[in-house]
This record gives sequence, structure tokens and C-alpha cells, in this order.
Amino acid sequence: STQKQTLSFQAEVAQLLKLVTHSLYSNPEIFLRELVSNASDACDKLRFEALDAPGLYESDAELRVRVSFDKAAATLTISDNGIGLSQQEAIDNLGTIAKSGTRDFMAKLSGDQKNDAQLIGQFGVGFYSGFIVADRIVVESRRAGLPTDQGVRWSSEGTGEFEVADIERDQRGTSITLHLKEEAQDYLNAWKLKSVINKYSDHISLPIEMSKEEWKEGENDQPGEMVETGEWETVNQAAALWTRARKDITEEQYNEFYKQISYDSEPPLASTHNRVEGATEYTQLLFIPAKAPMDMFNRDKAAGVKLYVKRVFIMDDAQALMPTYLRFVKGVVDSSDLPLNVSRELLQESRAVKAIREGCTKRVLSMIEDMANNQSEKFSDFYAEFGAVLKEGLGEDNANRERLAKLLRFASSTSDTVSVSFADYKARMKEGQDAIYYITADTLAGAKNSPQLEIFRKKGIEVLLMTDRVDEWALNFLNEFDGTPLQSVAKGAVDLGKLQDEDEKKAAEEAQIEFKPTLDRLKEALKDKAQDVRATTRLVDSPACLVVQDDGMSTQLARMLKQAGQ
Ligand code: ADP
Ligand code: MG
Repeated sequence: STQKQTLSFQAEVAQLLKLVTHSLYSNPEIFLRELVSNASDACDKLRFEALDAPGLYESDAELRVRVSFDKAAATLTISDNGIGLSQQEAIDNLGTIAKSGTRDFMAKLSGDQKNDAQLIGQFGVGFYSGFIVADRIVVESRRAGLPTDQGVRWSSEGTGEFEVADIERDQRGTSITLHLKEEAQDYLNAWKLKSVINKYSDHISLPIEMSKEEWKEGENDQPGEMVETGEWETVNQAAALWTRARKDITEEQYNEFYKQISYDSEPPLASTHNRVEGATEYTQLLFIPAKAPMDMFNRDKAAGVKLYVKRVFIMDDAQALMPTYLRFVKGVVDSSDLPLNVSRELLQESRAVKAIREGCTKRVLSMIEDMANNQSEKFSDFYAEFGAVLKEGLGEDNANRERLAKLLRFASSTSDTVSVSFADYKARMKEGQDAIYYITADTLAGAKNSPQLEIFRKKGIEVLLMTDRVDEWALNFLNEFDGTPLQSVAKGAVDLGKLQDEDEKKAAEEAQIEFKPTLDRLKEALKDKAQDVRATTRLVDSPACLVVQDDGMSTQLARMLKQAGQ
């Protein structure tokens, strides 16, 4: 009783298919990722349903995906022994767009072929992505638990229609055969397939099998060739490192994994591996490299965290997962709350992603705090490499500003090494001192020899010396530390407050009167160059120095902006 019917795709599917087939696809190989991940989902579903109905396994309980090809017929087949599809399920699931993600995606299409091609390239289109490489797809399936005469064959050329027919099928699960287009024949090659599987599906926990081939020497001067042995071999690792328990992973394995994802030749400085449960569930495996990359200060540089959704690779450098100031962090986030076909645009808007970013940020900060508190040598290595970029966080990450401020280290007028924290400084503050004093300059020597430090040196007050380009900008976002205001010694009339004794105050007031004629003449002479000319008590040896208005930009910041062309 073979029944056959021809049905039309839902209008949106037809539109999507047209786009898939007519767009220059930037990344055709993702079709394999999509089909393998569907096969893996189907196995997960079977495993779940079989919890209550073990009979569904029939006599075949070893779940797996197989990828094979027939060179002569120019076909590629992906088959699984998962849950399978009933005839109605094939009609419903392979003829409509059920997923909200795809519908959102469709809404974003502009009609402009070039833009759309780019968008679609970043986006998985699930099952329909098979039509990137195939001009005909045949799906044969039998749902677990149904009798063998209730199999289904679904086929389509990816135009407006598809056909469904009853078939007899012994094997449970689904096999999807792609009749490859002329330009996609390079997938009829075991090496090519393995490399794509390696790239995208290595961490699928299910074994992905291919026909095993062996080299056979040629006889009678004939060249040798690869021949199939008739066995299957697993071509992926079949177990993602981050899905394993921490105690089962050696440091060596972590390091190897790090090297593989970072292309770094050195082991990482620190790592963190956690499974986060709760409203948003994800696993994070994050590394801090030992050395900063050359282009670390390029804020547009690719971020280092890869996104997986349920162990399926989605994208490299998922910027939305990490704040920009932590762009040096490498690793993997594997989420179970995101759709597989999430695009970069959707990532930016996702609440789950926001929660993941916050969680990852906290983790990385704890990792750094742990070094700061317990491994001071490691921490100073870290700080020498990444301290400057960390400071960007003061401006970028309000929520963690205080945590970040605690991690900062500076040189000071009493310490040449970049090792003084705000807390250290506070602990050494003089009786009556009510501000943390700092100076910014291009170099350490420039900061140390600044005439603005004279009065502080005379009074034995420590001043933090800040020489990173980012300091001036970053310090704009930090008005105080632990209740003590930060005060630039290069700004306005430094008020030494209680640190100034009565005689000094009186001398300062008298100086204003005594030098008034001189000051007026200087003001007149400098009227286009200086806003004000004042007598000061801040100088000890130097006759004069330049300062900035209290609310003004410092000279260093002004120079930096000028260099940046602003
Ligand atoms: P998604 O995987 O996001 O649901 P797809 O377009 O990749 O979207 O697949 C559409 C649907 O087709 C799936 O939800 C599933 O119901 C069905 N399907 C696809 N491949 C298989 C398969 N190998 N076995 C069983 N069902 C499948
Ligand atoms: Mg899918």
C-alpha cells in the first residue's frame, strides 16, 4: 500500500529555500553541522523517551550518527538511529517553519540579496541548509516504536513542493541523502568530511562514524589506493572536554585544550571550569593566557570565547559573552538555553546571554582576585600583561567597578614597581590626609620629576604615579576608593586641607597680596594661553608649573585626545 502525496511548503519555507539556493552562501559547510546536530537531537529525544519505554531501543541501543557518501551517485548520507519521524511528523516538521528563531530571522531579511546572503551565512537555517549543497534531498525515516511498514520517504528539490510516501523500513531513525550539486562535489571525500566534522562537531558527545578506509598497496606496479574495510570508525572525539567532571580532567588535558582553541604555544596562566545551574544554565571553561596578544589594544579585535549550544559549535569570538575589557580571555561557553541557530544580532539582545556575560565576568574577576590574594608572583605577571586593559573596565563595567578598583596596582612616589594598590596606599596615608593623590604622565621618570610633586615630597605624602595611556580616561570613572576621594595633583589648587599648617596657610594668603601686581602682569601677558595665574605653595624648588582647572581635562588626556585626532 504505497501512498504518495505531493504537498506545498509553507510560504515562508519556500521563501527561505529560494534564498538559500540563490544566495552566494559564505559558509556552505555549515549544512553538515546542522544535519549532524539534528541527528544528535534525534538521539537525545530517543534517549529521553526510552527512559519510560526501553522497548523503543528495539535491538539497537548504541546511539550514533553515520556519515557516508557514494561517489558514483554523487550522494552524501547522514543517518542516525534516533527517534525518527512518523509520516505526519515529516510533513509537519520538514514542511513548515516551526522555530521562532527562524521566523525572527526571516523578519530581518531585507530583500537585498547581498545583505541577506551575509545574514544567512551567520545564521543556521537548520534542515533546509541541506539545499545549499543539494538539488534534491531524500529523507527516509521510521519513528521508534512504529511497525516497519510505517516508514516514510520525504523528498524535495527545494523548490515549492515536497513529496511524501509510505515505505517499508527496518532501520529505526532517519537517513538523509543529499544529491549534491555540481559545485558541491568536494564533499564526496572522506578527508574533507572529516575536517568539517572536526571543526564543528568534534564535541558532539555522540560518536560520529564514517566508513573505515585502509591503504592497500597496488599489485603488479599498480598504484596503491584507499579501500573500505567494511567497518565503521568514530571520527570525532565524542566527548566534549567541558562536559566532563573537573576531577576527571588532568592539567595536561586542560592545557592541550587551551592550546587547541587559542593557537597559543604556552600553557595558560589560569583557568576556571564550572557548570552554572539556575535560571540560565551553562558551562564555562575559561582561560587567561600567559601573554597578551600583540593587538590587545585594538578594541574591535576578535574576542576569544567560543559559543556552543548543547555541545554544538555555534561561533567563534562571541563578543556578546564577555565585556570588551576582558577580550583577552579564551575559552568555551556551552549554553542549553539558546537556540542552535542564534545569530550574532540575536545574541546581543538575548537575556540568557546577558546572564551568561555577567556570570562569566564574575568568574574571571574571581580568578584574578584569587591570583592577587594567593599567588602574588602570578598576579604580577598577569598585571604586567593585562593590567592596562583591565582598567578599561572602570568605564565599561559599572557593576564591577569596585572589584576592579581593588585589583589595580600602581607605582608611587615611594615605590618604583607597579605594586601599590589603593588599599596599600590608604593604609599608609598620613594623619589628617583625606585624599588619595595621583599624577598621570607619559613616563615614570616624567611623573617622578614633576614639579607638582614637590610639596607632597616635602610633606612625606605618597603620590600614585600613573603612566598607562588609559589611566587618565579610566580614572574619570573612579571618584573615590573605599570612601576616600581620588585627587589628581595636577588639577587646580590642590587643597592639602588639614595637612597644611597655619603658617603655610597664612603665607599663601600673603603671597596672593604681595605678588598681585606680578600676577596681573603675567595674566595680561599670557591672556590667550592661560586662564589664570596664581601664587602657590605647592612648589618647593621649581619657580612655576602648569595645572589644569579642577573640572578640566588634564594635560595628558588633552594630548591623548589630540593624538587620536579629536
Ligand atoms: P531544529 O533542529 O532547530 O528544530 P531544523 O530545521 O534543524 O530545526 O529541523 C526541523 C525539525 O525536523 C526538527 O525539529 C525535527 O523535528 C525534525 N528533524 C530534522 N532532522 C531530524 C532527524 N535526523 N531525526 C528526527 N527528526 C528530525
Ligand atoms: Mg536543527
